[in-house]
Amino acid sequence: MRRPLVAGNWKLNGSRAENARLLEGVLAGLGPESPCEAVVCPPFVYLDQVRSLLEGSAIALGAQNLSAEASGAFTGEVSAAMLRDMGCRYVIVGHSERRALYGETDELVARKFLAAHSEGLSPVLCVGESLQERQDGITNDVILRQVNAVLERVDIQMLSSSLVAYEPVWAIGTGQTATTGQAQDVHAYIRSIVSAHDAKIAAELRILYGGSVKGSNARDLFAMDDIDGGLIGGASLDPADFVAICKSAHP
Ligand code: PEP
Repeated sequence: MRRPLVAGNWKLNGSRAENARLLEGVLAGLGPESPCEAVVCPPFVYLDQVRSLLEGSAIALGAQNLSAEASGAFTGEVSAAMLRDMGCRYVIVGHSERRALYGETDELVARKFLAAHSEGLSPVLCVGESLQERQDGITNDVILRQVNAVLERVDIQMLSSSLVAYEPVWAIGTGQTATTGQAQDVHAYIRSIVSAHDAKIAAELRILYGGSVKGSNARDLFAMDDIDGGLIGGASLDPADFVAICKSAHP
């Protein structure tokens, strides 16, 4: 049985006051036992604040990015060990905004994935096609390339403590969600790619959907066989919506 996970990607949002307000609402709404595994990923500078606000709760801490390097002369970077030190358990790797806006290549994403594992963090590997790629009918080719770029460079055993997030780029922050059928098809395809390497790991791998998930559409998406929770952007900044999404995810 795969325990669903819902992760909030706060992106470049928040302040000390806003974070406290947001988490107060989320913690009150979820209660002591979250129905799913819940994670929040604030900006780096707020990790410590959020860690203390989450103390004693069922919500885990994650980061939005990390350096592929362990230490040294890499100005502005944050390493896996630092994230571990701050109490992170998860880290998003290869988000489409990082691929598109910061030039992250498949190879760099794979190196970040390895760096996360080297410190015992669980990477959430994001993959997804652009609108043009979907219209060109090459969604599966893109997904295969992105997933294999990592699988070819890592030990398949690492997948047993990793997650994959399918995030069609055209659905991120646009209000346009993939249909449950479109999402399920790609999720099943991702599982089949991993299954070609190891069927047991594939069966246990949690694959999240991301792209304009809201309280109003989460239940239908999470009801699909291969959708094991969500990576949530905009709606994770609204406590009521994030709580409603978490409550829509149960085994
Ligand atoms: C995301 O950024 O990972 C995301 C899914 O954003 P949104 O929910 O806002 O589409």
